[in-house]
Amino acid sequence: MTSCEYGANIEAAIAEPKVYTTATEVKTVIMKALYDEGKSAYVGFVMPVDIELQEVKACNTLAANELVECEPVEVLDIIVIEESLGAVVNPNNYVVNEMTYADISSVCEGDKCVSCGGNLRYTKGIEAGHIFQLGTQYSVPLAANFLDENGKAQPMVMGTYGIGVSRLLAAIIEQNHDDKGCIWTKESAPFDLQIIISNIKDEAQVALGEKLYASMLAQGVDVLLDERKDRFGAKMKDYELIGVPHAVVIGKKLAEGIVEFVRRDGMLKEEVSAEEIGTLLAERF
Ligand SMILES: [Zn+2]
Repeated sequence: MTSCEYGANIEAAIAEPKVYTTATEVKTVIMKALYDEGKSAYVGFVMPVDIELQEVKACNTLAANELVECEPVEVLDIIVIEESLGAVVNPNNYVVNEMTYADISSVCEGDKCVSCGGNLRYTKGIEAGHIFQLGTQYSVPLAANFLDENGKAQPMVMGTYGIGVSRLLAAIIEQNHDDKGCIWTKESAPFDLQIIISNIKDEAQVALGEKLYASMLAQGVDVLLDERKDRFGAKMKDYELIGVPHAVVIGKKLAEGIVEFVRRDGMLKEEVSAEEIGTLLAERF
């Protein structure tokens, strides 16, 4: 049972620390940490045997640029002990210059939430934007200061906040589609209405299509007219793929005075008399 809204990227997720005893088997995962200017260090990460090393957390702990796999080495530069093993692992077992404790464990389904104790589970997410709390990381070396109320120079506290506009399009379609294609929402649709003329050799179809198109344009509706020479089936496939929220299909039934009003979401079709379609569109758009 989860009872709070904690959620995190898998690379940043934390869980309630597990309880280990001296009977817990540990392993040492050896990796090479790469730093600026070609510097590197051999690092041993001491973990419970059944827990995976979370490499992004591990890399951040070391303030390294990257962790890469390496051949086993005799002499390590740094040892990082998973912090929940703190009371269990004897640090004197390791001969090393630098030793630190940190949360470097991968979080698994069923681990406990640190906020509410509920079970954590995996779910799909889309990173639609991000925040970096930079603090004074850049303002101090750059001396980007301001004068405080006492006239004393203080470094600016920096943050960067972004929404990925191009990602939003993918996110909208991820949530609004079917196996035929996109289903744009009203707010995001490139056009509100598409008018599809089934057979451009049929003068009556073309005349009605063009008339509706012109009147919708005059009303300020974003309208798309499909008067291509293609087969009707191909045009409908394109309509479903592009996913304009509504369409008017002017086809064979125009001979009986009937056209179709289509809602893309669910491909719901409604027969409307050709005489009334103009009024219906004027009401709905
Ligand atoms: Zn929780």
